[in-house]
Amino acid sequence: MLVVQKYGGTSVGDLDRIQNVANKVAKTVDAGNDVVVIVSAMSGETNKLLDYATHFSKKPPQRELDLLVSSGERVTSALLSIALQEMGYNATAMTGRQAGIKTDSNHTKARISSIDPTPMQNELQKGKIIVVAGFQGINENGDVTTLGRGGSDLTAVAIAGALNADVCEIYTDVDGIYTTDPRIEPKAKRLDRISYDEMLELASMGAKVMQSRSVELAKKLNVDILVKSSFKDEDNNGTLITREENVMEKVLVSGIALDKNQVRVTVFGLEDKPGINAELFNKLADKNINVDMIIQNVGHDNKANVTFTVPETELELTKEVMKDFENRSEEISYDENIAKVSIVGVGMKSHSGVAATAFDTMAKENINIQMISTSEIKISMVIDEKYGELAVRALHEAYGLDK
Ligand code: ADP
Ligand code: ASP
Ligand code: MG
Repeated sequence: MLVVQKYGGTSVGDLDRIQNVANKVAKTVDAGNDVVVIVSAMSGETNKLLDYATHFSKKPPQRELDLLVSSGERVTSALLSIALQEMGYNATAMTGRQAGIKTDSNHTKARISSIDPTPMQNELQKGKIIVVAGFQGINENGDVTTLGRGGSDLTAVAIAGALNADVCEIYTDVDGIYTTDPRIEPKAKRLDRISYDEMLELASMGAKVMQSRSVELAKKLNVDILVKSSFKDEDNNGTLITREENVMEKVLVSGIALDKNQVRVTVFGLEDKPGINAELFNKLADKNINVDMIIQNVGHDNKANVTFTVPETELELTKEVMKDFENRSEEISYDENIAKVSIVGVGMKSHSGVAATAFDTMAKENINIQMISTSEIKISMVIDEKYGELAVRALHEAYGLDK
């Protein structure tokens, strides 16, 4: 079998842990498999490198940023390969470029445009274990790009797809996908299986256990993902992320996500005329700003208030875009003290009353709901940031997820 394994930041967080990963990889090889390993940078490393850059510049050039942060993953890939070779295994480390990963030029959140599997296939044919530095590729100019935070998950899924691997395993510091972040609610339960769509909603609504774009790609390529713990040997069945029809139990709600890294932008008294929203949201889209919830009230006196949310990391860019609208509105305000809680489940498609339970729960806890958005399988609410964890625990109980 061809097995793709990805080890996250905590799993390669120090030298002992890299040795532990080497042992796990060796075991998989001993069992008769071909193995391609994808590694993240040591935990905290990417943030440290980003801090170094901001020491010199408030807005570092993105091309240089990518070159800088891609180094974290190179360190761990080389170290893991060294450890494996020392144990007598035939291993080779590769950067994103060496692994044939091409991307667009959207620095710091590039999209993979293609993977040439030949270099990896050649090494596999020679019986080598391949250790790929995650999170990176190159654009058509040959510049290093990175794939967005948590992007090693994407590298793993893309490689599993390109090599047509039999298994794609994501090893992390939890032993699977839980009904909510177990750090917030210790009563959270591990799920045996979850559908791509549910995982995608949980991930894009803040559950950082899987990068959302990696789930999107897995669905597109039909790659099953098994999320497991890198610290457990026994009782480590993990969670399978797969197609909806493979998920037997159609539960109403499968999980709750919390995202505290959003900002609410309110444009008061914006000129109320056809085309103004098109202009506003096109300008944000041109800058690749990820707008999530949007609300516009009923206008009067040819003026309306428009509210939307953007990721905290895109706040500065958003402010730049919004300059264009300053003299066409009365006031623009930014609130970083918000949290978005989301309830996700495919069972919602055929059930009403799910939203009512959410609103009742917020009312009982005396939490004010500032914004609401829904999709077929999700309800999201924006609330005051300080009630984020409380809301997660209350909703987790209200939907019986601890049972
Ligand atoms: P890695 O470094 O391995 O990529 P991450 O830190 O990116 O790991 O993701 C793992 C973390 O995701 C867990 O430690 C956990 O706190 C968090 N998490 C958030 N939501 C969930 C969830 N629903 N199930 C499991 N873990 C979750
Ligand atoms: N090291 C990168 C990050 O911290 C990518 C990853 O860990 O997946 O975002
Ligand atoms: Mg991650």
